[in-house]
Amino acid sequence: MPELPEVETVRRGLAPVMEGRRFEHVRLNRADIRFPFPDNFVGRLQGAVLKRLSRRAKFLVAELSSGETLLMHLGMSGRFVIGADNCPAESGTHNPKHDHVVFTMSGNDQPSDSPGRATRSSPFVIIYNDPRRFGFMELLSVGDQGRMALLGPEPLSNSFRGPVLHAALAAKKAPIKSALLDQRIVAGLGNIYVCEALYGAHISPLRLSNTLSVDECELLSVEIKTTLELAIKAGGSTLNDFAAVDGALGYFQHRFKVYAQKDKTCPDKNCGGTISRTKQAGRSSFYCDMCQK
Ligand SMILES: [Zn+2]
Repeated sequence: MPELPEVETVRRGLAPVMEGRRFEHVRLNRADIRFPFPDNFVGRLQGAVLKRLSRRAKFLVAELSSGETLLMHLGMSGRFVIGADNCPAESGTHNPKHDHVVFTMSGNDQPSDSPGRATRSSPFVIIYNDPRRFGFMELLSVGDQGRMALLGPEPLSNSFRGPVLHAALAAKKAPIKSALLDQRIVAGLGNIYVCEALYGAHISPLRLSNTLSVDECELLSVEIKTTLELAIKAGGSTLNDFAAVDGALGYFQHRFKVYAQKDKTCPDKNCGGTISRTKQAGRSSFYCDMCQK
């Protein structure tokens, strides 16, 4: 499943080719993915220019010249494939049966001198492919937050710090592992990076949330940022059927310290512990009970 770093990797792949381009044509191959497409989705998108592509938690947020905002969520297996106008399947790795949305973007009116995809001067297609169909798209009018309304702080923002996290956890009796997966406490974290950040902060996933000190919350907030930033730098980790925006499979899987490392020796040479796995709220937690307290 794409986690925040993968979504950021997709954003960085799509932004240079989509920003400033017009949706010349939009084709839907079905009426719904996880949710039905919004009313008149095609009519509202066609003709609009994508002004800016940003990210909030695991949502791709496209500001449109029409004043509306296009939200895109990759769900479990969604990805984007960039193709030429007459050759939609530039990558041989995807099955066109699962192409649900095809955007034809306008070419660049003023081709730049720099090499790469950003110089595409003729129309090209961006395909949304999603075998498991847990992804979705929404169109929001001005001021409408849609499914982003209940999201807590963005983990990579400057405002996400120890005191903020400590205040959010003060009334929570649930284990810290579950609290960090609650999108209202911090937005966009999934199972993998929660396990990794807790390891980095030497905090057990079993600890009750309201027992963490401000200092521990500060350390945890720093570890969350560091873990996410390292994964973004590595181009996102490849797990299951997720692929980068250009369909490029085969870049190295990010090495995790504890996630999926059951029975391996703790990576901290001074520790000597062994990585354990336990189930919390139906999800696997990986941790070292020697150095995570
Ligand atoms: Zn350890």
